Amino acid sequence: MTLKKIILLLCAAFVLLIAVLAIRTLSYQPASLSQETVQTVAIEPERIAQRLSEAVQFRTISFDHVKMIPYPQFDAFIDWLARTYPELHQQLQLQKVNDYTLLFKWTGKDPAQQAILLSAHYDVVPVIPGTEKKWAHPPFAGVIDQGYIWGRGTMDDKSAVVALMEAVTLLLQQQYQPEQDIYISLTHDEEIGSRKGAAAVVELLQQQQVKLAWSLDEGSFVLNGLVPGVKPQIASINVAEKGFLTLELLATAQGGHSSMPASETAVTMIAQALVKLQQAPVPGGLDGLTLDFYLTLGRHMPLLQRVLLANTWLFGSLIEAQMSKMPSGNAVLRTTTAATMLSGSVKSNVLPIEATATVNFRLHPRDSVQSIVDYVTRVIDDERIAIKVIQAFEPSKVADSKAAAFELIAKTARQTHGAVLVVPGLTLGATDSRFYEKLSDNAYRFNPMVLDAKDSAGFHGTNERMSVDNMAKAVSFYYLLLKDSALASKPR
Ligand SMILES: [Zn+2]
Repeated sequence: MTLKKIILLLCAAFVLLIAVLAIRTLSYQPASLSQETVQTVAIEPERIAQRLSEAVQFRTISFDHVKMIPYPQFDAFIDWLARTYPELHQQLQLQKVNDYTLLFKWTGKDPAQQAILLSAHYDVVPVIPGTEKKWAHPPFAGVIDQGYIWGRGTMDDKSAVVALMEAVTLLLQQQYQPEQDIYISLTHDEEIGSRKGAAAVVELLQQQQVKLAWSLDEGSFVLNGLVPGVKPQIASINVAEKGFLTLELLATAQGGHSSMPASETAVTMIAQALVKLQQAPVPGGLDGLTLDFYLTLGRHMPLLQRVLLANTWLFGSLIEAQMSKMPSGNAVLRTTTAATMLSGSVKSNVLPIEATATVNFRLHPRDSVQSIVDYVTRVIDDERIAIKVIQAFEPSKVADSKAAAFELIAKTARQTHGAVLVVPGLTLGATDSRFYEKLSDNAYRFNPMVLDAKDSAGFHGTNERMSVDNMAKAVSFYYLLLKDSALASKPR
């Protein structure tokens, strides 16, 4: 073949490639956002804001040290709920689980239908001592200012508690009775592992042989401006959550005086192990749930991103490499590795006999606790280092994003917020749903409030706040969802 022919062939191949990229990009346009008529529910936003303000003023704080937890505040909060929502307390059956978790049962008309469960937690994380002054309003004062309720728990998760209570009360006042049994679980220890709360609720319901058609708990929001380049609001109804694994790496060596050290000490062995782990991220990639998430959102991104996402066959590894550089992108692609704690010798001139490192992993649904322990053992490849599991739970199952319940939640999100982009997503932290999924194939994670990029730092952070408008929307959402819940019922 002559050189001229080769050049011509290359040119033709290049033109063909550009044509394929262009055609695929052109057919990858913003999808029209399916419309639902926005439903207006007669509620009084100011009164609901006042309720959340009152709820915030109880210091129902979950501390890691159980002795520090102010349980009288939890009792006072429970009394406040009973005073504030009398109809609900009279007409629903209440079981207290381990004194502080409240499980309400609203008996339905049709015993042949499977029950459903809605959940929220009323414990909150502490405010880091010394940061109180950085708050625009004191974190437990429940100040209402500039259209917001301010304070710890306004986003996570007392807003959902109050909105659920308000929605059920409204339905009771209208003499509504659901078709299927509805459980409402208000848990008290979500921020410290849920053992006395959601885990115990599940045990209790298992004893009563309750099977749930579906459950809904926290785990995502209507995201506004949180995915770069995507203009519409995104109702990310999360269908799975990552697992959790903490490993302790332990190296042992000869101790002695630091003036005559061996070439390796327990500390350097641990350091090498950590470097190996850092250089070998757990394999991951843009597939399954994450791929669907980005393919759905990508249609609404600027042209360059659309060219890339319309052609993952060619640019897949490029997209993965770019996403891996960002902590938030990396976290949805793979099991993450975070070395968090270190210990060595107790004195500067004493060689360590033992050195330890604590490493925390957040498990992608494709991995398991065992597969990560095996992976870490292979990567470190050093028999002198013992690997011990400190705490572990598996990633969740993946709930069905085609099920009637998902459709119902999506429809209700549109009825509440208008033209939002609905997409199934992955929750990166742990929620009570990891227990509820034992009773139900489909555990969904979604709070119906809009989360703005500028407010996301308030989550477990400073200046946590919730807008009054959001509270009104959340009450509407739960009201409409419960009213239509028979649409997603399942026979027992
Ligand atoms: Zn929470």
